[in-house]
Amino acid sequence: MEIYLAQPRGFCAGVIRAIEIVERALERYGAPVYVRHEIVHNKHVVETLKAKGAIFVEELSEVPDGAMTVFSAHGVARTVEEEAEARGLPVLDATCPLVTKVHNQGRRYVAKGRTVILIGHAGHPEVDGTLGQVPGPIHIVQSIADVAALTIPMDQPVAYITQTTLSVDDTRDIISALHARFSDIQGPDTRDICYATQNRQSAVRDLSRLVDVILVVGAANSSNSNRLREIGTEVGVASYLIADGSQLDPEWLRGARTVGITAGASAPEVLVDDVIETLRRIGPVSVSVLPGLEETIEFRLPAELTAV
Ligand code: SF4
Repeated sequence: MEIYLAQPRGFCAGVIRAIEIVERALERYGAPVYVRHEIVHNKHVVETLKAKGAIFVEELSEVPDGAMTVFSAHGVARTVEEEAEARGLPVLDATCPLVTKVHNQGRRYVAKGRTVILIGHAGHPEVDGTLGQVPGPIHIVQSIADVAALTIPMDQPVAYITQTTLSVDDTRDIISALHARFSDIQGPDTRDICYATQNRQSAVRDLSRLVDVILVVGAANSSNSNRLREIGTEVGVASYLIADGSQLDPEWLRGARTVGITAGASAPEVLVDDVIETLRRIGPVSVSVLPGLEETIEFRLPAELTAV
């Protein structure tokens, strides 16, 4: 069986930064360090950090007074920041700078008197954070049908922002529908879908031209991993999202000669290796990496973690 690995795949700069913030906080301040929500959506990453002394909680009320607290890469609502401030909790913010950029864009549009439309998946922590960072009016849409259902007058000044990890194609269609619906609409200069999401989606499209089956390594609650699987399916290649090799069903490979593997932005390469090892146990494999973009983007860590 031939295995092709998408390039790029796996960890993005925002995820690398978030994990490093927790690791450095543990080194600098000692265990435990409390992390609000999964630092990134990957169980393997969370378990590895737990073993080093991180404690994961969903609400700040679970953090003891005075304990070092980290906000996850997805960002948090302003109310969460205020709660931490009111309690005097020491906080390290691991919100990805590209998510913060979306918050800032939303605030700028509101300041200019525009009603903001957030294209995103309701209930995702990044969307909850953005809704809670933009001081309204803000509406959420996740489909063209949602655009049609908006009750905002068509001549009201509106602006859109988007969740960073959506499908580029779906977002394009929703933005077109918004432009058709509203006469005075603005959007960000460069779309908010982040570089890592775009690169991984474009790589999985390349991969899909070569393979019979696509395996996306990533967590079930990872937005960008789900979009990668959807793209494979939409172009007609059987595509499966698996957390690691243990979730691979050999039935999926019946009759397949080529298998493509990619990984969501929060999935570590060790899990891709695990999937390859599982395939190796089924039969002989050859592994090659497709040509693709080398990503060089790095995000700075918070100053308190880099000061000597
Ligand atoms: S996927 Fe994009 S927005 Fe999300 S953490 Fe990675 S770089 Fe940041």
